[in-house]
Amino acid sequence: MAVPRNRLSNARKNSKRAHHAKKPKSTGSCPRCGLSKLPHMICQACGAYGDRIVIKKEE
Ligand SMILES: [Zn+2]
Repeated sequence: MAVPRNRLSNARKNSKRAHHAKKPKSTGSCPRCGLSKLPHMICQACGAYGDRIVIKKEE
């Protein structure tokens, strides 16, 4: 197992973690009902993926 040779200073540790911040989730809008949805996912409101309906909604 690899073992680190030297202790990482607080400054080096913190500057290494400067790029670890979370980015906001990207969202798209449904072309059918216009509500926001995750990209490449079925719309939870109307069940459409692209131009076709994948899940039939009752009512
Ligand atoms: Zn929709």
